[in-house]
Amino acid sequence: MSKEKVDKSEEDWRKSLTPMQYHILRDKGTERAFTGRYWNHKEDGTYTCAGCGQELFNSDTKFESGSGWPSFWESIDKSKVMLKDDLSYGMRRIEVLCSRCGGHLGHVFDDGPQPTGMRYCINSESLDFSTEKCELK
Ligand SMILES: [Zn+2]
Repeated sequence: MSKEKVDKSEEDWRKSLTPMQYHILRDKGTERAFTGRYWNHKEDGTYTCAGCGQELFNSDTKFESGSGWPSFWESIDKSKVMLKDDLSYGMRRIEVLCSRCGGHLGHVFDDGPQPTGMRYCINSESLDFSTEKCELK
């Protein structure tokens, strides 16, 4: 798989994503809690970006947050995600984006478990899952 940035037109994204994936990845939407495919998903494997296939999270770092969204305490590697200040809706949050295609994944909060204390709160619709595990860096 190429490591190069994915830069597609909005029209191309509309063609390659489902309407719900487009809403979340490109329009920064949020799925309703407890409705996604992966919030309660416990298989071993790797979560990848639904937009471009980049590996993002390892199942070893997934935990039960009770939020209704898939939650991870670490990304596979810092280079896989971009963090950005998000001041929308009158809140100060940190947005998590895929570093390869710029797709919106969710938000990260600092109330997660050890060893990082972080909680990556990610939309299921932003993710695909593969039972192939990749090495944690
Ligand atoms: Zn991506």
